[in-house]
Amino acid sequence: MTISDEVAWSAVEARDARLDGRFVFAVRSTGIYCRPSCPARRPRRENVSFFDVPAEAERAGFRACLRCGPDTKKVSLAERVRAAIDERVEDGVTLAELSRLVGVSAAHLQRTFKQQFGASPKEYLAARRAERFKSEVREGKMIAAATFEAGYGSSSRLYSQSDARLGMTPGTYRRGGRGMQIRYATVPTSLGQLLVGITARGICAVSLGDDVPSLERELRSEYREAAIERASDPALDEAIAAIVAQLESRAPAVELPLDLQATSFQLRVWNALRKIPLGETRTYSEVAAAVGEPKAARAVASACANNRVAVVIPCHRVVPAAGGTGQYRWGAARKKAILARERGRPLS
Ligand SMILES: [Zn+2]
Repeated sequence: MTISDEVAWSAVEARDARLDGRFVFAVRSTGIYCRPSCPARRPRRENVSFFDVPAEAERAGFRACLRCGPDTKKVSLAERVRAAIDERVEDGVTLAELSRLVGVSAAHLQRTFKQQFGASPKEYLAARRAERFKSEVREGKMIAAATFEAGYGSSSRLYSQSDARLGMTPGTYRRGGRGMQIRYATVPTSLGQLLVGITARGICAVSLGDDVPSLERELRSEYREAAIERASDPALDEAIAAIVAQLESRAPAVELPLDLQATSFQLRVWNALRKIPLGETRTYSEVAAAVGEPKAARAVASACANNRVAVVIPCHRVVPAAGGTGQYRWGAARKKAILARERGRPLS
């Protein structure tokens, strides 16, 4: 040290910014080192040691304080905030917590961050989570484990996020899928062949059937005007992995972006279907009541029959009030099997 410990300590006590850059002080009890001017609470003298340069403090095993950023002058406030979020992707962090960490007001933090990164801290955290989630699904981890590890907490939060994605405006209706470019793939499952079709915006088709040619015919008649090709790409693999996991292993629903055209009534019904918990069913009238149209049971049945994405929108969870499992666009026997599986019963 070029200055005495005594002088250094009084600079720390006084939060003397004039000595910033001359030395840093490290706190044994927290493992963190700071600039003299750091706004954080003063540590006890016996826990403090001094270093000429940040590198020495790092070599001694201390980490740079996020609040005063002693390791370099060039690290901006927004970058410190980003580093703090990166460390907390799993647990999550609120704006108030970030504001305390870096020692500026929440409003200033929000504005500065958005200026530099073009997204709010909350949006950035959500993106990092989605990123982590996708890479774990791609690695073939179980969906339930992935939702947990990505910090989503519970699948119910996924449901509420899915709702936002599903909320397409009816005005985007394109007859016969005109202008859509659909890539699809098929995969055998224990419930027959599964076909999944996607566009650049999301999943537009999920169907189950006995053989691939009939599923392909169905896709082409559903989207008569679209450009359709069998393809293989990571987004498609990811969607298939998620749907198969849900179908075969009772994994909770995952957030999958959808590209669907629908009336606003259909959208409301589909959103309601996505809220029926795994292992439960509702009657058509119950769903009608849930969307605020108690007399519209028949229209609900029709919205279910027009669902284009099996399993992802769980129309199989709607059953007749009279009993039984009722009809299913992809075969009544399959509906029965999926429901039995979701209730956790062995397959018959
Ligand atoms: Zn500090």
